[in-house]
Order: sequence, then structure tokens, then C-alpha cells
Amino acid sequence: MQVAVGGCLAQKDRGEIARRAPWVDVVFGTNNLGALPALLERARHNDLAQVEIRESLEVFPSTLPVRRDSHASAWVSISVGCNNTCTFCIVPALRGRETDRRPADVLAEVRALADEGVLEITLLGQNVNAYGVEFGDRHAFSTLLRTCGAIDGLERVRFTSPHPKDFTDDVIAAMAETPNVCHQLHMPLQSGSDPVLKAMRRSYRAERYLGIVERVRAAMPDAAITTDIIVGFPGETERDFQATLEIVRAARFAGAFTFQYSKRPGTPAAAMPDQVPADVVGERYHRLVAEVEEVTLAENTALLGTTTEVLVAAGGGRKDGATGRMSGRARSGRLVHFAAGDAQTVRPGDVVETAVTYAAPHHLTADGPLLSHRRTRAGDVWQATREALAERDRAPGGIPLGLPVNRASGSGFSNRPRPDRQQV
Ligand code: SF4
Repeated sequence: MQVAVGGCLAQKDRGEIARRAPWVDVVFGTNNLGALPALLERARHNDLAQVEIRESLEVFPSTLPVRRDSHASAWVSISVGCNNTCTFCIVPALRGRETDRRPADVLAEVRALADEGVLEITLLGQNVNAYGVEFGDRHAFSTLLRTCGAIDGLERVRFTSPHPKDFTDDVIAAMAETPNVCHQLHMPLQSGSDPVLKAMRRSYRAERYLGIVERVRAAMPDAAITTDIIVGFPGETERDFQATLEIVRAARFAGAFTFQYSKRPGTPAAAMPDQVPADVVGERYHRLVAEVEEVTLAENTALLGTTTEVLVAAGGGRKDGATGRMSGRARSGRLVHFAAGDAQTVRPGDVVETAVTYAAPHHLTADGPLLSHRRTRAGDVWQATREALAERDRAPGGIPLGLPVNRASGSGFSNRPRPDRQQV
């Protein structure tokens, strides 16, 4: 077993990681994920930790060889980096300016995935609404969404993350008019207070954010809108916090990732005066979570009795074994636990329709009989893979699934002495 540490903070703390954790084999930056196999091999061969940070992007992450968790869903990178300068974020300092991938390359990857049986893709970028800025096409993102609509076999298109500053109405129209684009929007709010947004250097204001929400709902009344919120940013007052709660109620979020602000060394916000005491941050955070849950429960309760389409996931729910249910995601992105019936013919990757019988803040349950079940190519791939693995396990000398085994020692872990040196 080898250990590699990568990403923005690995890039920032490069020397520190190798010094304090001598058992780490490789430290790599955000721009050289493609070099990881070579770095691991070199670490093994030289018995020496490898630290490699590249200043510019070598290869788009999603063009690298992959082993996917799901045969039905995949991420596709459309851009890397970000031209914004949010004061709490380490990305601008480490990941660099936005680099856009050419539309033809993105579409070639999406088509190849659909040909393999993938039903759902999520287009990925730090700020997808700025996509095209590098090659001078203001409407490149909405065009990309519409083009994905014509790809055979592709049933669901999602994207993350949009930025309210750059969000334009052509994207709303493309979402509403392209049948395979899901009516789901994850749009980070961060704060509902204009002074806090200004201090965060988020160059939109609460009114603009709510205006986008209104236009999205006008075009797609069934839209599920989720968000990110930071509570306790430096200088945040109780009044600022109340403004955030007001937007949570007005936007009727279907879900929110909520964060307590904590200092990220190297970011402008870490050096700001008026840091909010931890107990105040914690107390506001609990009130925020309660408010979000009240809203999301109301939104989910409104779905009781409605029919929902679920793309079945492998092992989607912690309690599925005990309850006899299976799990998956609705087109809205909501997690749905459903009764699959006794015949057990539903496979991960298949698509079912079922009626919602119970609503909770973070999931829906559907315990009635299935209204439809469609076997898909993603389900076929899942079944073929499972059968191949079972066959391999039955073969003499087959390797059972589970923890990787180190054949020399018989344990799952290497006992090779770790170097305390590094090679940069
Ligand atoms: S838009 Fe997102 S990635 Fe870019 S600086 Fe702001 S928080 Fe960071």
C-alpha cells in the first residue's frame, strides 16, 4: 500500500507534509494529477518520498484513466482554476486562473461515456458560468448544455458549480428547454448579507441571487435549488446572520451544505480583524441548520404522493440491508429510498418510477409498489461486472474482494521501512 496526498492544501504545505508524515510516498499539486502513477512508481523504486508540484495544468483530470464508483454516473471536467478572488478561498492562490477545456473535447468524452452506458453526467468547474471566457464565447456554457441534449443515451445532465455573478438567462433557458438537463441547481450563496458578501469579495448581492432563483422557478417550477452557506465569516453580525436566514426561507432551498467559518492560512480572510468567536459561530450554525432543515422538510413534504423517477445506485443507503429497500437519486438530485419488491430484478444503474410515501429533511422514502422499472445499459454493465468478479472469486487462486493483500507479508499493509527523506 502506498499513500499519496494531493490537492490545494497539499500544494501549499508540500514540504511540511513530507517532513511531518514520513510514511507518505507522494505529495502532488492540483496541476499534476496525471503524473501520479509515475510518482508512485518512482517512490517505490527509489524508496524515497516524491514531492512534485507543477505550476501549470498538464492534463484535464477527467481525461485520465479512471475506475468509477458507478457505471451509471460520471463527472466531466470542463474547466480548472478560477478567476475570482473570494477572500475565504485558497483556490485562486493555488489552482491558478481558469483554463477552459475545448467544447469538442468535453463532448467527445461525454459521448464516449454515453456509449459505455453512462446515463448521467455532471459537468464540473469552479465556476461553470464563466466557461468560454478563455476562448471568448459568452454563451459557451448554455451551448454546451444544449449540445449534451442531443447525445444518444444520455438521460441526465447536471453541473456544478455556477456562480451568481456570472449566471446568465441563456443558461436558464437551456436548462428549461433541453429535456435531459435536470431541473436542479446547486448555486452557492455563502451569505445573505450584502456587507458580508462584499467582505468575501463575492461580487453579487442578495437581491441578484434571489432574482436568479425567481427566474429559475418561473422557467422550471419543479426546480430543486441547493446551496453552500458559510456562517461566522469575519465581521458577521447577528443582523448579517438574520439576512442569511431570510434568504434560506425566501429561496426555499431543497438542501444546503453549511459550514462554520474557520481560518484557511494563506487566504485574505484569515488575516481580517473581527474574527467571530467560536462559540458564537457554533450557536449561529445550529440555528442555520435548524432553519435549513425546516425549509427542506417543507419542500420534501410537498412531494408526498407524487411520482418520482429514480436512477438506482449501488449501496446508496446505510440502512438498505435492514429495511430491504434500495436507494438512488431523483432527477432533482434528492436521495430516495424505495421498496424494490420481492422479485429483486432491479439492478444498480436501472431506472424506476415510484410514488413518495414519506419525507424527511434529507431524503424521501417510497414504500409502495414500483410504478415502472426500466432495465438500462448501465444496469447491464453493473450485472456483467458483478458476474465477472464472482467468476474470478470462484476460480482456483482467485482473489476475494476486500482489503488488498500484500502477498509477501500476508497482511494488508506494507512493512517496508519508511524513509525520512524526500525528493523534490
Ligand atoms: S468562485 Fe469558488 S473557487 Fe473561485 S475563488 Fe470563489 S470560492 Fe474559490
